[in-house]
Amino acid sequence: MLVLLSGVSGAGKDTIKNELLKRMNNLTTMPSYTDRDPRPGEENGKIYNFVTTEEFETKIKEGEFYEYSVHHEHYYGTSKKILNETMKNGKIIIKDIEVNGTENLLKLLKNDTKIVTIFLRVPKEELRRRLQHRVEKASIKEIELRLNRFDYEESKIGIYDYVIKNDDLEKTVQIIETIIQNEYKLENN
Ligand code: 5GP
Repeated sequence: MLVLLSGVSGAGKDTIKNELLKRMNNLTTMPSYTDRDPRPGEENGKIYNFVTTEEFETKIKEGEFYEYSVHHEHYYGTSKKILNETMKNGKIIIKDIEVNGTENLLKLLKNDTKIVTIFLRVPKEELRRRLQHRVEKASIKEIELRLNRFDYEESKIGIYDYVIKNDDLEKTVQIIETIIQNEYKLENN
């Protein structure tokens, strides 16, 4: 089973995903590929495999991705090999992905794989506050890029199975944990 978790940057996806991974031993994750620079503390191979733009474009040509998108002026993509290999270990996979990636993975994989899609919502003004706080040294341009994306991502929430307003971390984690366990039971009974 594959759980796709979306929501604009700053919606709290990373924190929630990490909390779920700590609590659920039948849950795992997988790295995406990107050509953006690692942020401080980001280790290669954990959330992302960091590659150059040229390397990413070679992988596109060689058909290595199920899907890829350009987001915030960088490439992000789901490797066929990593997803297939992670699937083999029988655990539920949770993957942080933006809306175009969700749409593409649904089209490609939903006939063979159980996919549960979750969209985390956060009010726009709250998001602006979080981004300003989180990326203290981020350029205004970066913050504006991310806020501009907000309306587009919100326009796609209709494709998601679950839309959750993340205004309380503990509550959100508990709701998502319940959703995942129930969907898993439905699939396996
Ligand atoms: P960030 O640069 O903030 O880590 O991520 C930017 C966006 O890329 C996030 O919305 C994240 O969900 C998305 N993303 C991460 N991995 C993938 C992927 O493999 N495919 C697609 N389409 N988007 C991804």
